[in-house]
Amino acid sequence: MTTNEIYQELGVSPAVLAFGESVLSGLTERFAAIDANAELCQAKVLAAMQKNRVNATHFAASTGYGYDDEGRDTLERVYADVFHTEAALVRPQLVCGTHALAVALSANLLPGDELLAVSGKPYDTLEEVIGLRPSPCSLAEYGILYRQIDLLPDGSFDLSAIRSAITKKTKLVHIQRSKGYQTRPTISVEQIRESIRLIKSIRCDIDILVDNCYGEFVESIEPSDVGADMTVGSLIKNPGGGLAPIGGYIAGTKKCVDRCAYRLSAPGLGQEVGANLGLLPSFYQGFFLAPTVTAAALRGAVFAAAAYERLGFRVYPAASEERHDVIQAIELGSEEAMCAFCKGIQQAAPVDSYVTPVPAPMPGYDAPVIMAAGAFVQGSSIELSADGPVRPPYAVYYQGGLTWPHAKLGVLLSLQRMRDAGLIHL
Ligand SMILES: *Cc1c(COP(=O)(O)O)cnc(C)c1O
Repeated sequence: MTTNEIYQELGVSPAVLAFGESVLSGLTERFAAIDANAELCQAKVLAAMQKNRVNATHFAASTGYGYDDEGRDTLERVYADVFHTEAALVRPQLVCGTHALAVALSANLLPGDELLAVSGKPYDTLEEVIGLRPSPCSLAEYGILYRQIDLLPDGSFDLSAIRSAITKKTKLVHIQRSKGYQTRPTISVEQIRESIRLIKSIRCDIDILVDNCYGEFVESIEPSDVGADMTVGSLIKNPGGGLAPIGGYIAGTKKCVDRCAYRLSAPGLGQEVGANLGLLPSFYQGFFLAPTVTAAALRGAVFAAAAYERLGFRVYPAASEERHDVIQAIELGSEEAMCAFCKGIQQAAPVDSYVTPVPAPMPGYDAPVIMAAGAFVQGSSIELSADGPVRPPYAVYYQGGLTWPHAKLGVLLSLQRMRDAGLIHL
């Protein structure tokens, strides 16, 4: 059987397939650039693994306290070398991205210190960490002050507002690279460089934290290469390569990372305790695969953007725009279209492909949310997935795809479901 015959069996009609191929024929150069960046990032990861003499003994499980866990310590040096930082904390005890961010913030802020967010409102789950929504154990409860500078309407940093917001109290600056569930543009590492340069020129002792979720390996450099003191993310997104079943990372200066380790375990214990529980093979191999997995997700995002843009939908970023994360927002304009799109993504999944996603209420959201995900790791959003709150402008957030052929099939089936519902005409 040919590929196209199998696609037809999976439900992709010849018309949708032809439309997809015609869109793809215009993307050769974009894909080549994505692959060239993956090659660079793969070389960075390989060089770090070789430098640190990774070997089979590093994959052994440890239990209990995890003293002298060479595998864990070596993995943390590999991360530090890839991010070009003095130190890194990479562990299953950092249970998710939000936890890694909460540890980084609470470890490096003391009562009376001010946290200054300069890329606008942080990701939803951080509202309770900071205490923007009252919450037990929030930073606000411990007397940490918060101030926020929004991005300018064009999505760039408001440098003059940042300059005047910095005072003696300012201790830590928060920058979020990815847009999260907002429609603002994602921030490039070059833009981050510019804002860090300004902040450090005013007070070089202010610590800069960058929420790097969904940004790892999308560009040739990371926020840690342009002066961030802490670069933080989740292992069930890009750097876990789809294999890590849990975890987070904080890469940064020794001063900041040491404090994170004391906050994560206990003062006096720090980085020296924390058993790996047998997860290191997935952490190492996932990090090894992460550059090409990220490239697969990027190809899928560019394909989705180009296909839906050609059909007249608004897409963020636009198909031709440079990318700084793996998220693709598509304004579908109706609940019906969101459901059809998500049904197609779900239908392409290796797991739970027979399930029909429907909108449902979710804690923390003011509208029902629809989610399509058929993932090997629960909640993993580097695996092919789509979701969004069902309210105007009815935007769906498409992301992930461990392999390019899977992402391609997902986009084709989303188009098919939209066409079957009479929502698009090819
Ligand atoms: C996913 C995400 C987080 C939180 O990560 P979790 O692992 O879901 O807790 C934080 N910030 C951004 C920008 C994200 O995309």
